[in-house]
Amino acid sequence: MGIFISGMYRTAGELLKQAQKTLETARVGEPLENAELLLAYALGKSRLTLRAFPDFPVGENQRLDFSALLERKAAGEPLAYITGRAAFLEYEFIVSPAVLVPRPETEQLARFALDWLNGRAGACDVLDLGAGSGCIACALALRAKARVTASDISPDALAVAKTNAEALGAAVRFVRSDLFAGITGKFDLIVSNPPYIPSEELAGLAPEVRREPACALDGGPDGLELLRRIIGEAPAHLNPGGVLMLETGSGQRAAIKTMFSAGVWRGLEFLDDFSGFDRYFIARV
Ligand code: GLN
Repeated sequence: MGIFISGMYRTAGELLKQAQKTLETARVGEPLENAELLLAYALGKSRLTLRAFPDFPVGENQRLDFSALLERKAAGEPLAYITGRAAFLEYEFIVSPAVLVPRPETEQLARFALDWLNGRAGACDVLDLGAGSGCIACALALRAKARVTASDISPDALAVAKTNAEALGAAVRFVRSDLFAGITGKFDLIVSNPPYIPSEELAGLAPEVRREPACALDGGPDGLELLRRIIGEAPAHLNPGGVLMLETGSGQRAAIKTMFSAGVWRGLEFLDDFSGFDRYFIARV
């Protein structure tokens, strides 16, 4: 990557072309997009500016910075960990390797939760179980009439989530808890994007995903361990008419159906994500 340090590549457009090739060779997905986002970050400019001004001159120090960032990306580091930021709905969240990088599928879960909350007359009590970066909890606290509690088993994740809540001005109460173990009280809505990947599949995931915390992904031998615990314990923490909304793994629907005992749950609806994969359920007590 010394190529960036030499005087050869001086404009943003030239740097991008070379960076794209570097990322392609390293088998990084969406190489041009990643290169643009990294260069934009290194220069403190927007992607739009880079596209509009491909002749934008890039000085040696900035080329060095960009080269270092590119090296990290080529080695499989998620872009969000490099920039320390990830977008979720209309908000920007601080992220670190202590938390899962928020996903577009989870934005959809938050939208379902917002729709439900905004259709209710009064303020609701909401629990985000396994809050990670706090993306769901903060978005709900900011956009709905809700008293939001966010929990996570990881103190490091909770620290990130708290920083995000403060930065965004989101009123969220934080509790360190292994699922419901440390949770007292009842809620109108429990929302969660729990770990749902079978343990043995973790090693085969994309390099970027393997940099994310295993405890945010690992759903036990069949991927369903945490779903089972959540579905089993949620009724004790839901108000009458309360709702449990979860993101799950695609292909888990049949197994999940068997986890709901008829005497306790009154409604169960499954929903697909925008790619057409089965991804969510909404259950009501
Ligand atoms: N709630 C966070 C998210 O959806 C973290 C979820 C997790 O760590 N499994 O991004």
